[in-house]
Amino acid sequence: MVYNRTMLRRSILAWLALLVFLGACSPQVSPERNPGITATAEPTTVAPTAPPPTDVSAPTPELSPTETTPPTPTSDPGPPGIILFIGDGMGAAHRQAAAWLALGMDGTLVMDSLLIHGWAQTASADSPVTDSAASATAMATGQLTNNQVLGMDPAGQPLESILELAQAHGWAVGLVTTVPLTHATPAAFAVHHNSRYDEPEIARKMMALEIDVLLGGGEDDFFGWDEAGCFTGNGRQPAGEGLVSPAVETGYVHVCTREELLSLDLPPGGKLLGLFAGDELAAPFSPSLEEMTAAALAVLSQDPDGFFLMVEAGQIDWAAHDNQAEEVMQLTIGLDAAVTQTKIFTLARPDTLLIVTADHETGGMSLNQDGAGNFRQDGPFQTPQGTTFWVDWSTGSHTGENVPVTAEGPYSGLLAGEYPVTRIYEAMRMMVVGQ
Ligand SMILES: [Zn+2]
Repeated sequence: MVYNRTMLRRSILAWLALLVFLGACSPQVSPERNPGITATAEPTTVAPTAPPPTDVSAPTPELSPTETTPPTPTSDPGPPGIILFIGDGMGAAHRQAAAWLALGMDGTLVMDSLLIHGWAQTASADSPVTDSAASATAMATGQLTNNQVLGMDPAGQPLESILELAQAHGWAVGLVTTVPLTHATPAAFAVHHNSRYDEPEIARKMMALEIDVLLGGGEDDFFGWDEAGCFTGNGRQPAGEGLVSPAVETGYVHVCTREELLSLDLPPGGKLLGLFAGDELAAPFSPSLEEMTAAALAVLSQDPDGFFLMVEAGQIDWAAHDNQAEEVMQLTIGLDAAVTQTKIFTLARPDTLLIVTADHETGGMSLNQDGAGNFRQDGPFQTPQGTTFWVDWSTGSHTGENVPVTAEGPYSGLLAGEYPVTRIYEAMRMMVVGQ
């Protein structure tokens, strides 16, 4: 009873926060002035969950004058779900810079409006500065490992991932990324391998898991070298051993364009393999990260047992390695669009744990005003209000800084404060086994 009331209260507050955000983003088309905006925020899913006025300190949304029957509070939050967003290399400055560029200096990204805020320590088992493989393994398995290792401990023992645990509980599972699916972050959730760089082998292990939804780049690692696929360049699998045809024979739907993805009519229980580039997706992404996330949620959320989805904005790291602040900010804004849409999804599915974090910081990014003595100055950039700011970089590599974690939903309270990155796994594990 208390649990459901908490979720209902969260739902209302999250909805109100979303309206505030939409108003901040579009001051000329505020929700009050244009009811169409509120219509896109799924008011029909909010109204039935409205608790009695005594349940909340915030005002209860008013009923439409045309409604004759008060909404009936529901005790069914739907099947459980976990959505983990990883902005690769996305530290605190990356998030703040994106907010400044998109909204202004008092603006807040939706990912930063989530109710729970924490800090993850990112050091790996063998280095104060992690790589994506070790950090993603820590998030996926709850144990620290050495850099470059996927889904194994430092002694080489395989570790069950949260994706495998969810599968064992009958949940649908999915991985989405803007870089090749065989890259370190998605790979750490799926495979057990001692080197992140053996990508054709990672693709074979990944397909053996029968993951329900795989969307991203890296087509070349899934086709045989005697096959052309949808994009320029032949595959990297041995001749006659391409992975896509056998997958289709066992029930996967293979798509390689945005149009195919958006018009998808997947049969119940069908699996989806979307490969949208030979290697990484080129900007502007087609499909966008937001569109891939929506497609994945549409498929996975049909499972009555529950679902797990990891979504990676993988190129924030690459832009930060290159010290390209404009690109970092645009990619982070793109990630926030996917988070926004997912937050709306959770209003109708409040038994969903939503987490937004990073595997490490990249670039030693900082925000400044112009001044002599700055190290690697990048800019100027302008807020929508016309204020000028600059970005500095201290390195072209990863750093050992803690990274922000924001979250909402069941067990998100475990992610307040500061903790090793493995805590993210613990919260997700509780979601799967602690019901
Ligand atoms: Zn990197």
